[in-house]
Amino acid sequence: MLSVQKLTKTYKTGDKALTDVSFDVAKGQVVGLIGPSGAGKSTLIRCINRLVEPSSGKVLLNDTDLVKLGTGDLRRARRRIGMIFQEYALVERLTVMENVLSGRLGYVSFWRSFTRKFPGADIAKAYRLLDRVGLSAHVDKRADALSGGQRQRVGIARALEQDPELLLIDEPTASLDPKTSRQIMRLIVEICREQELPAIINIHDVVLAQQFTDRIIGLQAGKVVFDGPPSGLTEDV
Ligand code: ADP
Ligand code: ADP
Repeated sequence: MLSVQKLTKTYKTGDKALTDVSFDVAKGQVVGLIGPSGAGKSTLIRCINRLVEPSSGKVLLNDTDLVKLGTGDLRRARRRIGMIFQEYALVERLTVMENVLSGRLGYVSFWRSFTRKFPGADIAKAYRLLDRVGLSAHVDKRADALSGGQRQRVGIARALEQDPELLLIDEPTASLDPKTSRQIMRLIVEICREQELPAIINIHDVVLAQQFTDRIIGLQAGKVVFDGPPSGLTEDV
């Protein structure tokens, strides 16, 4: 499980992006993070995987405080966090399978990876995941030959290939049409339940968040202004 405790971030510019943000996310729970531009949503996601250094507070991932980790430990800990991006971040010239396998090694060491051979178990797992996300028929296609929805399915399979303990998902449907967006949200939520993964989704579309997530956290000016079931969300949150 994930436990964010009194997380605060003040940028060097003096911008107070987060103030005492606290919440726990249980295994299998999907949290939709909403709020206007500048509310602190991306800062929060980035503080959790420490792409941004928190000013104070704790981020406990299954009892490891990520805020305290040194470089080597942090690199290992980041492999426990699966990231899914708005623009998919696929390598266009590589196949679906190769993109999924890249999740195994993390993004930094990715280019070195193709000089090594992947263990059969990783490949078998990638096939299983691609089957789960509905891409069995497209394993050997190049990423640039896929539709938007298919690309996001690759992004999901890639995040899962590294056996994450947490999913951080940034605007997963922002580039997709409404129907595909619903399919992708449904898939993410089903997978989180099956694999008992906690997930935080930075989601612009409040209607989608209400329809698919288990819980909504509303941020405004760096503070939590709503935390509860989607049904409890009102216009003035
Ligand atoms: P952006 O400025 O990033 O485009 P918006 O201001 O359009 O974001 O907000 C996106 C949606 O979230 C809107 O439908 C808005 O009503 C809703 N919203 C904005 N602030 C909050 C908040 N603090 N808590 C809950 N919902 C919010
Ligand atoms: P959101 O994702 O909800 O739009 P952000 O986390 O991007 O919000 O921004 C929260 C606040 O922090 C805003 O006031 C923004 O201007 C500020 N901010 C974000 N990134 C930086 C940065 N790199 N340096 C200084 N201020 C920043």
